[in-house]
Amino acid sequence: MSTSQLPTAPAAEIGVIGGSGFYSFLDDIEEVQVDTPFGPPSDPIAIGELAGRRVAFVPRHGRDHRFPPHRIPYRANLWALRSLGVRQVLAPSAVGSLTPDHGPGTLAVPDQLVDRTYGRSQTFYDEGAAVHVSFSDPYCPTGRQTAVGAARTAGWSPVDGGTLVVIEGPRFSTRAESLWYASQGWTLVGMTGHPEAVLARELALCYTPLCLVTDLDAGIEEGEGVTMDEVLRVFAENVGRLRDLVADVVKSLPSDRTCPCPQVLDGIDLPLTLP
Ligand SMILES: [Zn+2]
Repeated sequence: MSTSQLPTAPAAEIGVIGGSGFYSFLDDIEEVQVDTPFGPPSDPIAIGELAGRRVAFVPRHGRDHRFPPHRIPYRANLWALRSLGVRQVLAPSAVGSLTPDHGPGTLAVPDQLVDRTYGRSQTFYDEGAAVHVSFSDPYCPTGRQTAVGAARTAGWSPVDGGTLVVIEGPRFSTRAESLWYASQGWTLVGMTGHPEAVLARELALCYTPLCLVTDLDAGIEEGEGVTMDEVLRVFAENVGRLRDLVADVVKSLPSDRTCPCPQVLDGIDLPLTLP
């Protein structure tokens, strides 16, 4: 493993933002220090090859897990990936389930999100112009379809669709909050899916969530509620499968982007130049 400075760094086309268990799926890793107008990303970015595709990996919480969900440098992570040439982002994460039908170990690829975070920087376009991107469908349709297909092929029974409610954390939900979310028809609870998704959209990137259910949320199960031990245990049990799935999705992602994502900024006067 070596560390180098841009611009000698190799380019990548696909980005993965995930837990630190994901390093080992890349071959010939090179680490790159990237600086951005929004500060440094969570850690140096690992670039490697997988099935002939160049992949850049960002450990979302930092390699030593030093960034809690509300402190992750989301803007720097997305900006850094785009500056390396990435145009398609895969985002595996651990989530809670709001339906007893989809218990621990379930793989879900939601198609909607609800933002219940507060105080996080959720735009690159803070000054100089008002930029309003379309976010009615927050995820890349091609990426979602590819992820669901790859999961089926790999023997998962993926949940295709549903709504991820992103809470501020770092605490888990109360029972009342959890029951309220479920009563709205929302299906998953997480802490990192926003603003990650909208920041990808603001950079005209494709963004695809891969949500691994680690627990039933507080109001849904009948025991003591969610504990960190439970989440970590279920995640550890499934991280190998999830990593294999991310690799499968990388292999299956079409390299030409025929989805609407590349055009989302067309006709908009941007106050800054994208990398
Ligand atoms: Zn797309």
